[in-house]
Amino acid sequence: MSKYLPKQSELVKEFEEKPSVLKGDYEGREWWEMPFEFREGNFCFPAKPEVIKDLGFPNPRKWQPTDDDWKLPDGWQKILKDAMKERLKKYRSLKLYLDSCVRCGACADKCHFFLGTGDPKNMPVLRAELVRSVYRNDFPMVEKILKGFAGARKLDEKVLREWYMYFYQCTECRRCSVFCPMGIDTAEITIMVREILQLVGLNNNWILAPVSNCNRTGNHLGIEPHTFVQNIESLVDDIEDVTGVKVNPTFNRKGAEILFITPSGDVFGDPGVYTMMGYLLLFHHIGLDYTISTYASEGGNFGFFTSNDMMKKLNAKMYHEAKRLGVKWILGGECGHMWRVVHQYMDTMNGPADFLEEPVSPVTGTKFTNARATKMVHIAEFTADLIKNGKLRLDPKRNDHLRTTFHDSCNVARGMGMFEEPRYILNKVCNSFHEMPENTIREQTFCCGSGSGINAEEYMEMRMKGGFPRANAVRHVREKHKVDSLVTICAIDRASLPPLMRYWNPGVSVYGLHELVGNALVMDGEKKRTEDLREDPMAGFEDGEEDED
Ligand code: SF4
Ligand code: SF4
Repeated sequence: MSKYLPKQSELVKEFEEKPSVLKGDYEGREWWEMPFEFREGNFCFPAKPEVIKDLGFPNPRKWQPTDDDWKLPDGWQKILKDAMKERLKKYRSLKLYLDSCVRCGACADKCHFFLGTGDPKNMPVLRAELVRSVYRNDFPMVEKILKGFAGARKLDEKVLREWYMYFYQCTECRRCSVFCPMGIDTAEITIMVREILQLVGLNNNWILAPVSNCNRTGNHLGIEPHTFVQNIESLVDDIEDVTGVKVNPTFNRKGAEILFITPSGDVFGDPGVYTMMGYLLLFHHIGLDYTISTYASEGGNFGFFTSNDMMKKLNAKMYHEAKRLGVKWILGGECGHMWRVVHQYMDTMNGPADFLEEPVSPVTGTKFTNARATKMVHIAEFTADLIKNGKLRLDPKRNDHLRTTFHDSCNVARGMGMFEEPRYILNKVCNSFHEMPENTIREQTFCCGSGSGINAEEYMEMRMKGGFPRANAVRHVREKHKVDSLVTICAIDRASLPPLMRYWNPGVSVYGLHELVGNALVMDGEKKRTEDLREDPMAGFEDGEEDED
């Protein structure tokens, strides 16, 4: 167990015994008087000076949130206020979100971090109030209108520390925005605050180290092209061992019809690699003319958690590479924030990609008109279309050793409104699928508790607290339907949900959707199947004889 993680019984005891607004305990203090403290387990380590220097970001230095002196640059208040002013002018949405909250409280109990910690500053309304209180105090027009309004605060070091703590306890999941009658998106406020904190050197190494790697090598892990190829080739060998089929991915091949881009976690990390094996089997099954780039070797974009400029820069490599290789369009793998960036920002940031064609499935002829602007199709849409048109030979019994539920990734569900395609596929590739309760799925899905770049080992305690509502919903279907497999279409989820399940729901494993597709595909020339892609035995196939009923 991580040294940053208390035993489950200790966490539960703390929650039960500590007074908390969530349980109706009101201490009689105003929210801004509530104490907070940095301690092991509740903050991510700041970025290392060499990482900051590498990116050319300001104020590289060694410091820890527990230090008395944060070694802030001279004039840090002015730096932050100027940055805020600039953004309020540039982003009308931000001004609207700061101005229009009516404090109705509808969002208060909707945040997984509030539900997991009971800390009132994790209510979305108060998280935003951390900034609004300064905005109210320091911005001339607002000051004139609202002077004296309770809670107007100067930007001092205490406020800055609160910003650093609570804007990294928001995973930018947007669940709160679903319930806000004014349409306020607290995630946008978090994005802005994190961006301006960078300007005084307040950041997080788990975000900036991957950004620096991606900037240098094209992927978060900093893997160079030859190693990237070797890793996929070893997955090709694994596929052959399990299925007897030799798949033939190509790399950097000019003139291929489609460029396939997926998060690097699918190429290097367990259990993401099994999802990658699923993609490779699928593409072989349909004879897709595709290539994989060793330069645009990352679908994810931690620039999104850093600054708009960095997000734009890291995203640009996808179009550059598509142009260089002369493909017709781009197919994207299972990822969360990659798709929020693609769906909401890519076309306006780095488009229009007029050199690409409106995506058309070469197998079914379906036009993906929804991807007319970005020229990039989500793998779940692509596969659902193949199944709907009867182009895949599937045997769902090959997943009979799994009893599944589906976790909607926040960015794909709320960020792009994709609810049906993954469920459609799941229902076609396995026989046992059970939904979690209605108020925890689709648009109302609960975050894994580790998104937006806080998936760090040292943050384990907060991650287990923030992930508790999701884990609790999984526990419900585990108890009711004996679910043992949590399926997701996000690479961060595939990394963050396994420790969450081990902590709250031991016995539940995490799978990518296309891993299950890969298990179910009946391939030409395959050997008698007895094992799934993890080399776990498949129920009913033990003797290699498939039951044909
Ligand atoms: S965006 Fe998500 S994590 Fe952030 S305040 Fe809203 S519900 Fe909480
Ligand atoms: S739901 Fe919207 S308007 Fe109501 S308190 Fe929350 S942010 Fe403010």
